[in-house]
Amino acid sequence: MTLSVAIVGSGPSGFYTADALYRGREDCQIDIIERLPAPYGLIRGGVAPDHQTTKNVARNFEKTALRDRVRYYGHVCIGADLSLAELRGMYDAVVLATGAPLDRPLTIPGGDLPGVIGSADFVGWYNGHPDFSDLEPPIDQAGVAVIGNGNVAIDIARVLSKTRAELAPADIADYALEAIAAAPITDVYMFGRRGPVEAKFTNVELREMGELADCVPVVDPDVLPETIDGEMSDRDRRLKAKNIETLRGFTEITGRTTTKRVHFVFHAAPVEVLGEDRVTGLRLERTKVVDGRAVGTGAFFEIDCGLVLPAIGYRSAPVDGAPFNDDYGLIDSNDGRVEPGLYVVGWIKRGPTGVIATNRPDGKQVAELIAGDIPNGDKPGRAALEAALGEKGVAWVSFADWQKIDAAEIAAAPDGAPRRKFTTITDMLAVLD
Ligand code: NAP
Repeated sequence: MTLSVAIVGSGPSGFYTADALYRGREDCQIDIIERLPAPYGLIRGGVAPDHQTTKNVARNFEKTALRDRVRYYGHVCIGADLSLAELRGMYDAVVLATGAPLDRPLTIPGGDLPGVIGSADFVGWYNGHPDFSDLEPPIDQAGVAVIGNGNVAIDIARVLSKTRAELAPADIADYALEAIAAAPITDVYMFGRRGPVEAKFTNVELREMGELADCVPVVDPDVLPETIDGEMSDRDRRLKAKNIETLRGFTEITGRTTTKRVHFVFHAAPVEVLGEDRVTGLRLERTKVVDGRAVGTGAFFEIDCGLVLPAIGYRSAPVDGAPFNDDYGLIDSNDGRVEPGLYVVGWIKRGPTGVIATNRPDGKQVAELIAGDIPNGDKPGRAALEAALGEKGVAWVSFADWQKIDAAEIAAAPDGAPRRKFTTITDMLAVLD
């Protein structure tokens, strides 16, 4: 092999890059290094557990992992087991595909009270991510406030609003299913600081909110405009009109008595989380949209809630040995090239936007850059990695090992569910003993 590439992170951006490198050059050896034993990043830990079809893309990633020139090294942490500098010494190119695992902070008074839990942590909790399986969020509340009008906010609102039977076909963590089914939740609020036209959730996700078994969406008809004004593409105008039509449909639902309600509250910017030693409520300011921005009107209101879940976007984590743009929470690059030999793809390159397939062109672009930058590699790659891990006593999880863990999860699946997830690293590794 003349080109050795290490990809750090095994989410969609990592796997699309591996695929592009594999197809791009026959002399390229590709090693995917992942901190957790389980691969697939947000496919496993971020995509909503009741959106199983979105996870089907993992089958393609599995095919990539099984290619002859690709190898998976799970449960190896760059920055702890091995430094980035060490890795760069071993491989001709290193691609960082570590995503954006941190929450953007809610910087209002009370934003750090117990009972305020960012979406990265909360979604990780119900998805059984080992980092968050012992989170124990206080969901034994009647009122829950979700801040934000993106797809993550709507995912959270939907998962909290579904019945046990609706969640049965999901791969939600056992403990989360039990907690949600037992919680006395009656009112979930989704607060958008701008209006319904500016909301970022997509129509499929919005429509689902009108199809829940024991939950009804609540929308004030007065906030829904008759026309979609302003400069935008025809496509955007159509999509926004569709959302408004769906929301209008929600205002016409009558005669349904349900245990839960999801309130879509627009033009409401959070200004303070209320409570002494834990969350008891949220104070918000009514806004209007001026030149696309939310502007406060000076009118305030409060709601009672015991849990506040900001779903207001993510940040990447710095990687020791790589430059980090702290203002934007990502690594600056030139189309993915940080410098020859070091590259970024996915959310750590672009910030936390787009869907899974948005990562595919990132991978292709970086594979081409690498091919151009390094016509002939001269570093040992895999042999050096395995020697170093062996020396340091790091027992990595191979893809065959992961397949055993995967099979054990599938074998333990409750009725109707695709799998029962192991939610700690210890439990995953126990399968391999
Ligand atoms: P997002 O789409 O950027 O939405 C973030 C939301 O938070 C926006 O409504 C934003 O309002 C609001 N916000 C930001 N700062 C705020 C503040 N200080 N106070 C109040 N509200 C604030 O991000 P996301 O929901 O985390 O999703 C990330 C990406 O993953 C998106 O591209 C999303 O489409 C994708 N995703 C897709 C799916 C799916 O396809 N089913 C599911 C999950 C995620 P403004 O608009 O006013 O800034």
